[in-house]
Amino acid sequence: MPENRKSDYDFDLFVMGVGSGGVRAARMSAQYGARVATAEEKYMGGTCVNVGCIPKKLFVYAAQFSEEFAQAEGFGWGRARPDFTWHQLLANKNTEISRLNGVYKKLLDDAGVTHFDARARIVDAHHLSVNGNLLSTEKILIATGGLPTVPDFPGSEHVITSNEAFFLDALPRRCLVVGGGYIAVEFAGIFKGLGVDTQLSYRGELFLRRFDIDVRKMVQDELHKKGIDLRFNSQVRRIDPMNDGALQVQFEDGQTLETDLVLYATGRAPAVADIGLEKVAVKCRDNGAIIVDEEYRSSQANIFALGDVTDRIQLTPVAIAEAMCFATTQFKAERQVMDYDNIATAVFCQPNIGAVGLTEDEARASHDDLAIYRSHFKPMKHSLSGSDEKCLMKLIVDQQTDRVLGVHMVGSEAGEIIQGVAIAMKAGVTKSMFDATVGIHPTQAEEFVTLREPVAKSLPSPV
Ligand code: NDP
Repeated sequence: MPENRKSDYDFDLFVMGVGSGGVRAARMSAQYGARVATAEEKYMGGTCVNVGCIPKKLFVYAAQFSEEFAQAEGFGWGRARPDFTWHQLLANKNTEISRLNGVYKKLLDDAGVTHFDARARIVDAHHLSVNGNLLSTEKILIATGGLPTVPDFPGSEHVITSNEAFFLDALPRRCLVVGGGYIAVEFAGIFKGLGVDTQLSYRGELFLRRFDIDVRKMVQDELHKKGIDLRFNSQVRRIDPMNDGALQVQFEDGQTLETDLVLYATGRAPAVADIGLEKVAVKCRDNGAIIVDEEYRSSQANIFALGDVTDRIQLTPVAIAEAMCFATTQFKAERQVMDYDNIATAVFCQPNIGAVGLTEDEARASHDDLAIYRSHFKPMKHSLSGSDEKCLMKLIVDQQTDRVLGVHMVGSEAGEIIQGVAIAMKAGVTKSMFDATVGIHPTQAEEFVTLREPVAKSLPSPV
């Protein structure tokens, strides 16, 4: 047994927050023999389970039906379109989330973790206050996640964030989504799919700034085709409530808009308020993100942090992978360091984005000799569906090594497809290996293994 167990403290590890990272770290550490406690005053499972990935994906499924009912006609189905009931979706979603809350609680119970339904505050490096009790611990893991942020401007009190969007009393008739990242495009798609008159306002030239340029342009086209009113180079100046309950939005360029709901999706900040951080020597970045080393150790040697509270890559599977490394290193006495390369990601707009590896711009900045392969086509389903939705697939290849540097897709089930490609990327896949792979016919995904001619090449710079 590792010698750091069975300390004189009440616990070997105290985990603050039971989101994706916290639960995994607690569970695995307990399985490795540590005496573990967790504390959380909000909800079991954190953002992902309660106000993030899971309910969002359920809403995305709900939103997709409107198109699917319409598309079914081309396949011989009748025109009848059932009514949509927001309250039914909400109730069913809440039931499923409660079930998952229970699953997470059971995971902790089964692992022998002591859980407190309460806020824990650090008192000193080895003590926490929970429900008025002082508990001691050898190590503390801060996994408190993040919270949506809204900039300060006149009328900002009238907007909601994604947290509230999951519990709306009624679906609005009109909605303005502000932001140009994951949450903004996903919620714009959800609202539009559910029949809401939807605008999206983004402050820059083109949204989804960290994605490949072809992906960004393609999503712009597709969201526009679906009838989402995209406003780029657009900044909200103020929001005023109107007598009829609507909201009047004024933009910096002088335009105005009347809407019923404004959803701000302008990023998330580390949740470090009121956890007692000031009592210990834990250093944070300006935005509150806890600074950690590659073992998730903060500047206070026995205090660790992982997941969104460290603001590195705000994705559930990243927090889980970090938690695995943390537990294995600390309580199995096997040093495990996370590899952050080639982490795949998906945005569940319609159609989805799936991406792994470098964007074309990133590849150009670091490699001289690239070949770009791209296919933009109409998926077979839409030969009968009546939809003019397209699919984009793109490979970025280093011609000197033949290594595939980036794979990007916009299309239905892009997240599912790119997950498989991500394994190949992790294994160091080359373009020749893509070429040597026999496709599955007829699928969209087979296009990835039949991209023969590059659409662009860059030659090495002359020496
Ligand atoms: P993102 O960081 O993805 O995007 C924030 C957006 O808000 C950007 O477009 C940014 O613009 C804009 N913005 C920031 N500040 C302001 C401001 N003051 N005024 C106007 N616009 C502003 O954050 P999200 O909130 O969308 O999501 C948070 C994180 O959660 C994501 O980064 C992602 O890691 C994770 N997530 C993952 C999902 C998934 O895996 N499918 C789904 C949802 C969230 P600019 O680009 O100009 O900086």
